[in-house]
Amino acid sequence: MIELLSKNIFDSMKVAQFADIPIVLDMECPDCHKSDVGGFFHERANPIGWCDTQTGFMGVFECPRCFSKFRCHISTTGRYNEDTFYSDFALVHYMYNEPNDKSLNEKI
Ligand SMILES: [Zn+2]
Repeated sequence: MIELLSKNIFDSMKVAQFADIPIVLDMECPDCHKSDVGGFFHERANPIGWCDTQTGFMGVFECPRCFSKFRCHISTTGRYNEDTFYSDFALVHYMYNEPNDKSLNEKI
């Protein structure tokens, strides 16, 4: 299996001071609404870290437009399981950083 995000990097991305970062339910930048997790409706929000809250693990994101930070659960199954959350976060992180080479699509 390809490792999308090394565990060492994942561990180093844990955010300790997260209380001031707003929680969003719709996975969208709460200030400008121009970015979202995964970039399904807007620009992709930058996954800058993750945190362990009383209601489970959450991803921490930064909007590429207004640079606001927000956090949200990025999966329902990985909320309380760190291994599952690691997989889910690694996928979101990979999607954000994947090479945006459209010529690859033309070769398929
Ligand atoms: Zn924004």
